[in-house]
Amino acid sequence: MAKYFKQCTGQLSKACSIMGNADGDDKPFCLSYNEVEILNSPKRVIEVAIPVKMDNGELKVFTGYRVQHNDVRGPFKGGIRYHPKVNFDEINAMAFTMTVKCAVVDIPYGGAKGGITVDPKKLSQGELERLTRGYVRAVSDFIGPDKDIPAPDVYTNPQVMAWIMDEYSRIEGRNTPSAVTGKPLEVWGSQGRLSATAQGGFYVLEALLKELKLSKKNITVAVQGFGNAGMNFAEIAHRAKCKIVAVSDSRGGVYNPFGLDIKKVVKHKKTTGSVVDFAEAENITNEELLELPVTVLAPAALENAITKNNAGRVKASIILELANGPTTIEAGEKLYEKGVIVAPDVLANAGGVIVSYFEWVQNVRHFYWDKKKVNDRLKTQITKAFGEVWENAKYHNVNMRTSAYMIAIEKLGKALKIRGI
Ligand code: GLU
Repeated sequence: MAKYFKQCTGQLSKACSIMGNADGDDKPFCLSYNEVEILNSPKRVIEVAIPVKMDNGELKVFTGYRVQHNDVRGPFKGGIRYHPKVNFDEINAMAFTMTVKCAVVDIPYGGAKGGITVDPKKLSQGELERLTRGYVRAVSDFIGPDKDIPAPDVYTNPQVMAWIMDEYSRIEGRNTPSAVTGKPLEVWGSQGRLSATAQGGFYVLEALLKELKLSKKNITVAVQGFGNAGMNFAEIAHRAKCKIVAVSDSRGGVYNPFGLDIKKVVKHKKTTGSVVDFAEAENITNEELLELPVTVLAPAALENAITKNNAGRVKASIILELANGPTTIEAGEKLYEKGVIVAPDVLANAGGVIVSYFEWVQNVRHFYWDKKKVNDRLKTQITKAFGEVWENAKYHNVNMRTSAYMIAIEKLGKALKIRGI
């Protein structure tokens, strides 16, 4: 399997080849070869060593990254992930997709991503706090409200964002809430941010079902991953009367073809630490979940869940990518040939960064919105982006990912040309 970053640049070339390259000014929407080169290389790569005093008195050194891919449309923006498998290729690729995502949904940011190679489940709260503050000190010269604004990602949460905000504010010598998004409500977070990725994904699904003339009540859904995105999505879709037949987490999944009571599954997860062994369902593996006969499959865990090896066995007609990079490019092509619609990550999970943008706006203006206003604006923004991606895909007869990349390229290309980089 091609490395993740290579897959992204491959996707960019593919979209460019459909649009045509623009050496000469006759195609102002396309990228010239030099502009493609700019997007094929991250603008800044930061790798840091973070020494942390552990509770037992030992010193441990962790590796952290921040990749700032591109900022031609605005400050770098993107989450920070804490995971034992975090590596440079993954962070580099996700920084790239953040540039594309922010352009697709038209928010004034570029793309970045950060991460620390660590299993946060093995750290105490104190160790986690010291690790987070150490990371902020290490990258503080390069982040800030108008430079690069971090946010949550896999295994980081509002508490971690609060520590980032606090450490950054101490360094600056003043409260700087707009330096990071996804903060708790008590310290300048936004209403609706916690469920924003899931909520945005749900709005995309609603728009897609409308195009396909399908009713929410007649579909079945399987959700892989029961973290912030997956769990909230299952809850939102369940409340909207969709039949959720399967969910899973890192330990495995549960399946009930007649539908799961998601409230009860959430309770079970909170008491036992996993969805596995939920009484009103049978246990299945994560691999089995991906191959269930459902209408919608929502991969909401990590990258590379659907590859060319299992794509042939996927039976869903819609894949809603709530995770980043869950379908490899090759798998996506295979699915497209089979007639499966993949709502790509750069659109389907963009609700998180859209509401991050709203949080940043509220922080900058010191004026806070209620949840209805946040969700209404999120719906407007993401549904509009969906419409553009959908229409463009139909017009050019390409899959939705290629279409989304084409739309991003047009916006990035124009900004690059006007700025004269
Ligand atoms: N980590 C999320 C993403 O991949 C959110 C990023 C943000 O809010 O900046 O889109």
